[in-house]
Amino acid sequence: MEDKKLLKEQPLAPGIKPGKEPGLLHPLDNIEDVEDFYAAINREHLQKALSAERPYTYWTIELYDKKNGIRGGGGLGVLAADTRRVAEQMNVPLTLITPFYPSEQHQRCTIDNTNGFFFQNSTESIPVDYKDYGFTFLDTVNIKAGSGLVKLDVIEKVLGSTRLLCITEPGFGELYSGDSGGDHRLYQEVALGFGGYQALKLAGLKPAIMQLNEVATFFAALARLDELASNGMDFYEAVVYTRKHTLYTNHTLVQAAEATFNYAQFERFVFPNLKSSAVKKWLSDKFDNGYIKLSTVTIEIAELRSGVSKLHARVANYREISGKKVKFKAVTNGIDIPTWTSKEAVDYLKAEGILDKFFLPTADYEAKLENISAEDIREIKLAGRRELNSVLEHRVDQYGNHIHIDEDGLLFEFKRRFVDYKRPWLPFSDPVRLKNILEKYNAHYILSGRVHEGDVTMTGRLTEVLKTIDSDPVLKARVHYLPDYDEELGRALSVGSNISINTPIVGLEACGTSWMKDIVNFGILISTHDGGVADCPASAYLNIAGESELEEIENLYTRMEEAAAAWGNDFDLELILKTELINFLPVISGSRMLKDYLDYLFPERA
Ligand SMILES: *Cc1c(COP(=O)(O)O)cnc(C)c1O
Repeated sequence: MEDKKLLKEQPLAPGIKPGKEPGLLHPLDNIEDVEDFYAAINREHLQKALSAERPYTYWTIELYDKKNGIRGGGGLGVLAADTRRVAEQMNVPLTLITPFYPSEQHQRCTIDNTNGFFFQNSTESIPVDYKDYGFTFLDTVNIKAGSGLVKLDVIEKVLGSTRLLCITEPGFGELYSGDSGGDHRLYQEVALGFGGYQALKLAGLKPAIMQLNEVATFFAALARLDELASNGMDFYEAVVYTRKHTLYTNHTLVQAAEATFNYAQFERFVFPNLKSSAVKKWLSDKFDNGYIKLSTVTIEIAELRSGVSKLHARVANYREISGKKVKFKAVTNGIDIPTWTSKEAVDYLKAEGILDKFFLPTADYEAKLENISAEDIREIKLAGRRELNSVLEHRVDQYGNHIHIDEDGLLFEFKRRFVDYKRPWLPFSDPVRLKNILEKYNAHYILSGRVHEGDVTMTGRLTEVLKTIDSDPVLKARVHYLPDYDEELGRALSVGSNISINTPIVGLEACGTSWMKDIVNFGILISTHDGGVADCPASAYLNIAGESELEEIENLYTRMEEAAAAWGNDFDLELILKTELINFLPVISGSRMLKDYLDYLFPERA
């Protein structure tokens, strides 16, 4: 603990005023606040750059926003939903264009231990109807795909200064269905790009900027280039114009791992949608031996490029066709604080003058954090635990049972997609050690995360973990796996747990946002130094260090003991949580993220 100091960070722009109305959850309900936010961040020029008819446009193949009918798969979709919600709160005009998938997948689990241990992980598809979620039908648009025309419904939902603009049709399929280099995936991406671009015009909108959330949205920028080039603009001018107004946001680390499409697929799905022969030629020239990676062309069409954390922007290894290494601007992901934080925690952070009405840290938030008390924190956590328990009343564990966590019991949690690099099994490496910690501190451990359909390795890993739990009465009573991880569980576990565990293999997490939800809810974070966590020094949280996985495991258990003990010691608890919040609050704030994007996209011209 000696190396843990209250570190100083200076990320706030000058001119940020502390909130005038502490305690109000949604103070922004009239248009005057547009100027107020722009004024608060000293960016009055944005009033000209963006308008209702000329909004910021955000393109994404995945949105995770079930309240509006769309279920995603993970962080990419959550980020998209949070970006829109933050814009809505700040009254920034933003249109998000995404598919409305007519059905979604849910994880189902069964365990049969009557005759040995048998675990089955399966998925159930459930139809979804946009009419149930307040969308309005605008019209249809056509795209060319395969052997003919496909008619897409354009639907929209206006939410304050923002809107969801979706394309859909009954045969659209599910999110990430089929192979990533397969025909159906290409069809979905082409439909979003060419269909979505027509939808934008149908809604009477002109994009002030196009943010491409990963390369699956490349075709939107291509549709714009084609429109400009086929409407009389000189081809090279059209390229320059499109490049200047397109931002490619990368979430991946290595270009080599990306799927490819072949020329024949483009002949069926892409070229028929292009009007300009110059654009066709430009695109054909980008094939390498008959294959294309969308990142190569996205880099060509977008002059603005960003990565999602400081570390990721530095290490993402991408090259232009010329061989030149791509530079990414670091814009670390943030979260929409009110979506992911208990009402009690938000009210407290505002009342104490730590967050302002825009959910940005106040100018003196560090000093204000010095005043937080273990007593207040325990009260906030108690309210969070009650919220978690009310969610657990309608969720089940791996055995199909409802669970309840004692109000005064300690809770560890690990909640995120069950993928290899996140290493959800790491705390189960030494079951005896885990069991001892849980018993010693009267603690429970909740694990949640969906396994991707068909991921044999991870289904095997999950089966092993569940078998370990099943074979030990103490673990069986104290460790719970919650299937079908979703936003509801994401929030409930953040507000209701005491200690969260984040164990990506260092270098493989682009950012991650789950851990942000834990910190803002006064949880202790135990993590490897990766993704957005590495935006701050390793002394800002309980860091898992180690030269080898064995060392990391050893360190993880030490940190678990340390965190559990801190919940029984007011001084330590206050110190750990203050240090976390002083360092990470500016990172976590989704308004800070939006401000960073606005600064990158619309720099004030002298
Ligand atoms: C917050 C959240 C995520 C984000 O996941 P990361 O892996 O931390 O980026 C994913 N899924 C759900 C359901 C969430 O609530």
